[in-house]
Amino acid sequence: MNKLLSHFTKASAAIALAGSLAFTLQANAATFKVINTDDPGVGFNDKTPAAPVGLNPGKTVGEQRLIALNFLGGIWAKALGGNDVIEVAASFAPQECSATNGVLASAGPFSAFRDFDNARFAKTWYAGALANRLAKTDLDAASGQPLPEIGVTSNGNLGKPGCLEGLSWYYGLDDKVPNENSIDYVKTILHEYGHGLGFLSFADDATGEQFDGLPDIWQHYMVDGKSGKLWVNMNNAERKASAVNNQFLAWTGFQSFIGAQQTLTNVDTLDVFFFDKSGIALLPGGTANFGAKEGRRGVTDSLGFLEDARAPGAACAALTSTQAASVRGRIAVINRGGCAFTDKAKNAQAAGASAIIFINNTPLFAGRPAFGVDDPAAGITIVSTLISQQDGARLREGTRFASIFETKRPGGMDLFRRPLLYAPTAVQPGSSVSHWDITATPNLLMEPNANGDESTALRAPKDLTLPLLKDIGW
Ligand SMILES: [Zn+2]
Repeated sequence: MNKLLSHFTKASAAIALAGSLAFTLQANAATFKVINTDDPGVGFNDKTPAAPVGLNPGKTVGEQRLIALNFLGGIWAKALGGNDVIEVAASFAPQECSATNGVLASAGPFSAFRDFDNARFAKTWYAGALANRLAKTDLDAASGQPLPEIGVTSNGNLGKPGCLEGLSWYYGLDDKVPNENSIDYVKTILHEYGHGLGFLSFADDATGEQFDGLPDIWQHYMVDGKSGKLWVNMNNAERKASAVNNQFLAWTGFQSFIGAQQTLTNVDTLDVFFFDKSGIALLPGGTANFGAKEGRRGVTDSLGFLEDARAPGAACAALTSTQAASVRGRIAVINRGGCAFTDKAKNAQAAGASAIIFINNTPLFAGRPAFGVDDPAAGITIVSTLISQQDGARLREGTRFASIFETKRPGGMDLFRRPLLYAPTAVQPGSSVSHWDITATPNLLMEPNANGDESTALRAPKDLTLPLLKDIGW
């Protein structure tokens, strides 16, 4: 089941505000003022009786939703400090959804501003709430068009027929969801408020086009690890290519860099090293849950590509004598798919392979922290690693020798130890670029998927949400 978090990709125009029911939080912190835009009887106004849950005393579903929303607003208010008043237009409404996939919630800034007093960069867009903080005034009030700073929509159909069936919102405030089918509302909307406060780029991640032809503050900090260029210095084609440069799109802000050293931890990796036209290449790999766990000595051998290694069913059956000859005494290169990893490993081992490099069958890198299911009965003793589809293509064009080594590298950093942004090889509009990468270890609040074990601390050494917001000016 894919539980996506989303955000509006463009600062949007006004929406009609119905029945404005405002709640205000404590002083000595920013103030989040919720504007409930739901119709009577639904969403935040749902009068269905509810039993108190996880420190949330609300007596109806609607009350519990509002209490949870104000609770998470309080977490943000304390983290941001200051005395800003941040208005949030909030509602429950249908979101893009099918029985097994769907958007939990989406949010974004209502407006964007540039060239206001105290803006650090000229001709650069800032999300409304951040622009207000820097300018020390409510900019859209000054313009005669007072708008909320943030709009947030929660999926009101969650768990109903045809929409993420079997799941339900958990309105407890205690970070203790009872089971994996419960979605923590506080944590989900905490993430969404992050987007609303400016945790996003306004650039179109599918075309590389900028919002109204100018960069946003994010583009001064996003760097492409291959070209070394910042997004602000790229043209549309370069930004479009960088948005899918998986494992190479990084964040250069100082606060996030320091936070990443404190937060991200080492994961077990079995990386593949070989030569290609640009020199020594490193392909990040995952460790298998089966077979040997090779250490620093590693395995170095020539590569044996199965004849039909481009087909997903390669090595699902005992290898033919021709196939066996191509992998005997070599590192077998085998595509994922068609049967279990352990079936393939068993067949390659029986044919005399010294190790295995599996190539993933999706554009996403899914080899970390570990892959496959252990099967002691299969008797596998050789080493296996799993690399991405993109890197698999690269491997086929390099030298015919490779080494597989255990390396200790923090999950979610590039080779310069900068935190990575999410840039899957197939662009995911609304998710690409504007999140931390899914290889981050531990899981971070601002990853594109709800993993359930994210911290709500917002700051290092548990999370990198606040460090990034500080980098852009909060
Ligand atoms: Zn998000």
